[in-house]
Amino acid sequence: MTTFRTLDDLGDLTGKVALVRVDLNLPMRDGDVTDTTRIRAAKPTILELAEKGAKVLLLAHFGRPKGERSSTMSLSMVVGAVETVIGKEVMFVPEIAGDVTRQAIGILRDGDIGILENSRFWPGEEANDPDFAKAIAANADIYVNDAFSAAHRAHATTEGLARLLPAYAGRSMQAELEALDKALGAPEKPVAAIVGGAKVSSKLDVLNHLVEQVDHLIIGGGMANTFLAAKGVDVGKSLCEHDLVDKANAIMDAADHAGCTVHLPYDVMVAKEFAANPASLRTSNVHEVAADEMILDIGPQATEALADVLKTCKTLVWNGPLGAFETEPFDQATVSLARTAAALTKEGSLVSIAGGGDTVAALNVAGVADDFTYVSTAGGAFLEWMEGKPLPGVEALKA
Ligand code: ADP
Ligand code: MG
Repeated sequence: MTTFRTLDDLGDLTGKVALVRVDLNLPMRDGDVTDTTRIRAAKPTILELAEKGAKVLLLAHFGRPKGERSSTMSLSMVVGAVETVIGKEVMFVPEIAGDVTRQAIGILRDGDIGILENSRFWPGEEANDPDFAKAIAANADIYVNDAFSAAHRAHATTEGLARLLPAYAGRSMQAELEALDKALGAPEKPVAAIVGGAKVSSKLDVLNHLVEQVDHLIIGGGMANTFLAAKGVDVGKSLCEHDLVDKANAIMDAADHAGCTVHLPYDVMVAKEFAANPASLRTSNVHEVAADEMILDIGPQATEALADVLKTCKTLVWNGPLGAFETEPFDQATVSLARTAAALTKEGSLVSIAGGGDTVAALNVAGVADDFTYVSTAGGAFLEWMEGKPLPGVEALKA
């Protein structure tokens, strides 16, 4: 694994100013923060730096203000929630650089915490303008990035600053990078990947990359229908991207070439209408789906066969539910396989890494998110990592 400087490489920080990029793009309703997961993720890093004596200045973006100030997107709105989670007073600074920021830092004592204003109020953020980054860096001594979820963007606060100041991975960034390394960087083999979700089109790059990396590629969800169609299966009125059949065939050819086994379901759950527990629900062999039926989950036999595949594997990386899990009973395969993966992880025979908005929701439905080795909530950055793309915010941290 490429090495990163972490907080372990930092000694006493008394009198120093640490800029810490965190994810404070928090879900809000009526001016209140509705979920503090992201603050809790950043808490260990913030407290550790404060304990080392640094003045800790949080940097983050919020929403899409497009380079202009916006009263509805000020980070002042999250200060209360941050104070509650961190358990310390937090000063809000309505600027990100310049004299006002310098004066605010002058007021902070060693170990105090401040939040700088929404980085996206300034066009230099998304443009990764070196002058903008220099102006921010001028008030600080070190830079810590604890926002993996923003690492796929080459912005001033995610990439530019890391080039200007001594840069370190925060604890949450470190945990994410270590987990991802275990999954695809230097995994224990055999490695299985589960890729599900609605459409092949959104995950072509993921699939193309994974066939080169893994021993077993398990395809489920709506996207499996496109692969089945590519094999000549009539998928009825299932969600299917018929225009991507050639791409699906190319992925299967590449898998063959790379020695990766592609697993498609051979039985499926079908219904004539997409509703909870529909009267027309039945289990079908993939070759017997009627013209007026749609595939909404993989079937019990396929689920069992996939559980057997996981039992032979040492590493699993999972993105995308296997069925339309929001609607019962089309969560069954996803829930069942998630429980198998969780049990194997608990036994110590499997390293399991999962990510993706709906995937995390599905693991929560199954009640096993805590039993996976690591669950990434990073969304876009997780997917780009699964595509094998270098993440600018991570690259800039490499020592
Ligand atoms: P993630 O957010 O974890 O990356 P996706 O957004 O790619 O996952 O996919 C999740 C969506 O895929 C869910 O809304 C689910 O209902 C849908 N889906 C899964 N299987 C099917 C299917 N067979 N038919 C239609 N939609 C499906
Ligand atoms: Mg999704």
